Amino acid sequence: MQYHSAKYRDTDLVLSVENVTKSFDGFKAISDLNFYLGEGELRTIIGPNGAGKSTFMDLITGRTRPDVGKLTMHQKSGDDIDLTKLPEFKINRLGISRKFQAPSVYLNHSVYDNMLLSLPHARNLMSSIFYQQKQEDRDTIDEILEMMRLKDRRDATAKELSHGQKQWLELGMLLAQKPRILLVDEPAAGLSDEETERTGELLISLKGKHSLIVIEHDMTFVRQIAQDGDVCVLHQGSVLFEGQFDEVQANQKVKEVYLGRGKEE
Ligand code: ADP
Ligand code: MG
Repeated sequence: MQYHSAKYRDTDLVLSVENVTKSFDGFKAISDLNFYLGEGELRTIIGPNGAGKSTFMDLITGRTRPDVGKLTMHQKSGDDIDLTKLPEFKINRLGISRKFQAPSVYLNHSVYDNMLLSLPHARNLMSSIFYQQKQEDRDTIDEILEMMRLKDRRDATAKELSHGQKQWLELGMLLAQKPRILLVDEPAAGLSDEETERTGELLISLKGKHSLIVIEHDMTFVRQIAQDGDVCVLHQGSVLFEGQFDEVQANQKVKEVYLGRGKEE
């Protein structure tokens, strides 16, 4: 029943999804799904359209509730948190952040102010005329902008940025909240080849510091970010196969349902 769980010691796990099913009007978008994420891991999820990838993220963030099954976040203290009992904002506060496919930034604000607004404590304080920017906040923002290659665009209005730069800005805004688990839905969609590669480098650099789940279609990009990590193939709401990129590509079942369609390479 416990898919691949033997790979982890209990202390290594950050998230467990066990026997989760979610139906919409009788259609099982997620079907008896088992999934385990290790601390600091970058897991890539692929699968044909309608496989349940986005629904899976909706379930983790509390946007959608499972019909049955368990979603558990494991604390370093050894305590387990039942995510199915918590509202969306509390799950977010526990350190689970999600990057949706379309960039979501404040278009009429500067890059710097977007970052400032994303700091959990500054968000409330900025509306106050008494808010003095702390050196610590400035340092955090500078560090992230540097990493996102947006340092020289800090005073630009967000709407002036390219699509890729907007995506990096939003990623930076999420990172400012120091998430423990970061969920990223199709980050390469609509990006140039160069921006795609840069996004891949960025995500790889986050490994170890955060635990990441990345949904992606672009197989060149998947190969880049999967490196030594596992790729999970979702099909009809369950894990069809999980393994290294080469194993996934060579797997007959995967070829039949996904790669064999000729849409991807
Ligand atoms: P993917 O992201 O892998 O393309 P989704 O998770 O978006 O797949 O969708 C999986 C299935 O669940 C699809 O058939 C979709 O139509 C259905 N679905 C997803 N969300 C809803 C919803 N809120 N109401 C009804 N059906 C939904
Ligand atoms: Mg989707």
